[in-house]
Order: sequence, then structure tokens, then C-alpha cells
Amino acid sequence: MILSFGHSPNPELLESAKAALAEGGLEFQAVVCARSTLLVVTSDCDQVSGHKFSTLPGVLKVVRLGSRTPLALEGGRAKIEVVGNGGKFVVGGEQEPVIIAGPCAVESFEQLSAVAVRAKAAGAQGLRGGAYKPRSSPYDFQGLGLEGLKLLKEVGMANKLPVVSEVMSPEQIEPAAAYIDVFQVGARNMYNYELLKELGRQRKPVVLKRGISATIEELLQAAEYILLGGNMQVILCERGIRTFETSTRNTLDLAAVAVIKGTSNLPVIVDPSHATGKRDLIRPLSRAAIACGADGLIIETHVEPDKSYSDAGQAITPEQLGEIVQDMRLIARTLKAHDEGQTKIAAATGAATGAVSGAVSGSAPSEREQIFSGCRQS
Ligand code: PEP
Ligand code: MN
Repeated sequence: MILSFGHSPNPELLESAKAALAEGGLEFQAVVCARSTLLVVTSDCDQVSGHKFSTLPGVLKVVRLGSRTPLALEGGRAKIEVVGNGGKFVVGGEQEPVIIAGPCAVESFEQLSAVAVRAKAAGAQGLRGGAYKPRSSPYDFQGLGLEGLKLLKEVGMANKLPVVSEVMSPEQIEPAAAYIDVFQVGARNMYNYELLKELGRQRKPVVLKRGISATIEELLQAAEYILLGGNMQVILCERGIRTFETSTRNTLDLAAVAVIKGTSNLPVIVDPSHATGKRDLIRPLSRAAIACGADGLIIETHVEPDKSYSDAGQAITPEQLGEIVQDMRLIARTLKAHDEGQTKIAAATGAATGAVSGAVSGSAPSEREQIFSGCRQS
């Protein structure tokens, strides 16, 4: 159950509604969206009448949602603006897909700087690089830690590129926040609920990667933890799941992209690097990801791929990245022009299908759309 208060609610009325919920033995979380404040009941309230709360002063609407992921399905921001280091990119909405590129791990100033300059020239809008590395073996390179974060800041600034980097524990968030623009939650940490809760208290975007054996529903529930904390800037990332197939490092589940785009409001990007583990497969799967509606790609790139400290087999060169950027623009623009053409034809002939006519005629917003409309604003 969600109580909606609209924009700038009267603080006293908000407090008295909170008191009424508490008196009814209900736990809740206040979520402040761009244009509305919500009280999201987190305890079981199936047997509670919503009516008694809908008549409370200040409450605009009470909505019951038959899902464990109401915010992930409808509340997060569909379009996320990432700003940092004098640069900017937008993920989701009607924007052209974004490219985030950089090494698996930050290794040195020279390595990071060389790849950032050339990746940017190839079309990258964001710089990635791990400072804290979740390695399967404790004997492998674990990342440069704080030193790596400082290098990300320095190189990001020099190239006006916002920076994405992984945090693995709640303790790493505060130090990392001073140096990075987007927190990444790695596949191994999608189930780290203390980490997700702490990221919910932050106000920087989060790239949330799908766990290696996580269902789409579990990914959305992980996103819900961050959203419920009030951080509406969650970007989901499909990076392959573990299956019986051994030809590729993981199996890229592009159906997940279409499922999420069809059900949730959150942007989705694809990581073809960890999905395949093989550099020759990055380009074809990048093409496929964009064709099926991904809002962007995050790709491991290195000026000397074979010398990468980690994940060398899947690293591509900046030149290869440039080819993918060209593919991506061609595919995205072609499909967009095609879809717009279809919509115009449908509108002109009045023979639109249900889905298209809903999109163009702007049919009356549902109750759910109304309650979450504020959250959807940038
Ligand atoms: C990474 O992006 O560097 C990484 C470790 O990816 P994943 O968590 O998807 O394995
Ligand atoms: Mn990697």
C-alpha cells in the first residue's frame, strides 16, 4: 500500500499520517520523489483497509499494488542524468544509447589515461574502471583501492568523463563518493542487502548488475532496496547469467532486457564483456543488445588488451570500441526512424494497434501512473 501526498506536502499532515500508520502497527518508508512524497508501507497490510488512510488530511491517494517491486516497476527514474568531472551523459528515456568504456581494473595513471583519451575519441561518454575488484581468487590482483579511485578522478577530470566504479561494502561508499559519479554494484553483490540499503541513502546514480544466478524478479527486488531508500537513480545492467553453456563465460540473457523494458520504468544497459568473456563476441552482442532496446553498453576497453591485469580475454581496443559506437548509432537511429514512421502511418490511417494508439493518443493515465508520475520526472 502506498499513500501519496503530492508535491511539497504539509509537514504536519505528513507527520500525522505517519503517526496513523504507526498506530495501526504498520511499518513504512517515506520516499521523496521529484514531485511527490510517498509513504510506502513495508509490512504486510493485506488485511488493512486502505480507505481509512485515504480520508486522512493531506493524503491525495492510497494505492494498493499487487507486487513486491512497486518502485522498481513504476517509481524509479526512466531517464537518468549523470554529471561529473565536467562531463555529462543521459541514460534512458528517448536518448540515444550511452557507451561507458574503460578497463576492468585501474592499473596505473598511464594505463587509465591512455584508454580514457582514446575511448573518448571513439565515442565513450563515461569512464569505467574497478578500484575495488571482486576477484574469484584471493591470489589475483585485488585492485588499487583508494589510489585507484584517485586516479579515476584525475583522469575523469582531465577528459571530462563521469566515472563509474564498483563498491563492494557499505564502508567503501563514503570514501568512493568523493571520487566517483556512479556507484556500481557487481554481480557478486546484487544480494548484499546492507550495501543496497546504504546506496539507497546516497544521491548518486547506481548501476546495479544482475547476479550470476539471479532471476529478473530478484534483480528488480534488489533495485527496490535502493529505491525504497529514496535513491531513484537506478540503472539495471544485464551482464550474463550462469548456465550449462561453457563456450562463453556467461550466457547473455537479452530476453531480460526486453522483459525489463516491458515491465519496469528503469533504464537497462548491457555488459557484453562479462557476458561473453571473449573479445570477438563483444561486437555482435553489442549490436543485438541495442537492437532489443538496451539504453546503453558498458564495455571493458584497454589500449593493450592482452596486458590487462584482469579479464584480458574480453578486453577490446579503443578502435574496436569505435566500430561498436558506429554500429550502435546506426542501429538505434534506424530503428527509431522506423518506429516513428510506423507511428505516423498508424496515426494517419487511424488503424493503430492498441499499443501504438495508447502511446500516441495519450489515453487517460491510470491511477498507478498518476501516483508515480512525480517519481518519473527527472
Ligand atoms: C566488473 O564490471 O568489473 C565486474 C566485476 O563485473 P561483474 O560484477 O558483472 O562480474
Ligand atoms: Mn572485469
